[in-house]
Amino acid sequence: MTLFAKIITGEIPCHRVYDDAHVLAFLDINPLSRAHTLVIPKERCASLRDLSDDAGAAIGRVLPRIVRAAMAASGGTGCNVLCNDGADAGQEVMHVHFHVIPRVGDHGLRRTWRPGRLDPEDVAEILDVMHQSMARIG
Ligand code: 5GP
Repeated sequence: MTLFAKIITGEIPCHRVYDDAHVLAFLDINPLSRAHTLVIPKERCASLRDLSDDAGAAIGRVLPRIVRAAMAASGGTGCNVLCNDGADAGQEVMHVHFHVIPRVGDHGLRRTWRPGRLDPEDVAEILDVMHQSMARIG
């Protein structure tokens, strides 16, 4: 059982921001900035790619409200919403979660963004694989 599953059951305490039948949001114990909040589905699932549409929709429904609340509490001037999906992407707790991280002055997410350039010759293959994948899931 993951740490976040134990937070859902109440076995481990948290500072609750929001709670409904499908979603729990609570303050991150090691915040990058004031009001850094974690938003998690109650469905037990390690990876976003395996999350049900219903659980995903439930999270999407409340995310804007959580962002507003975190920005109100922090006085942030921007906000990063981030899901580290998979160990290779930096995920440490293997239960799906979205970070809501207000940017408050110097505090917040420091990102290293190294953009490439979309290769026009590769677009058709990328879209082909993605469309097939989405057709399978949908
Ligand atoms: P990840 O690296 O998996 O995307 O993020 C996991 C997050 O969970 C980290 O930001 C970390 O600070 C937070 N975290 C780890 N353990 C606890 C805990 O016991 N309580 C709370 N509220 N947050 C935790």
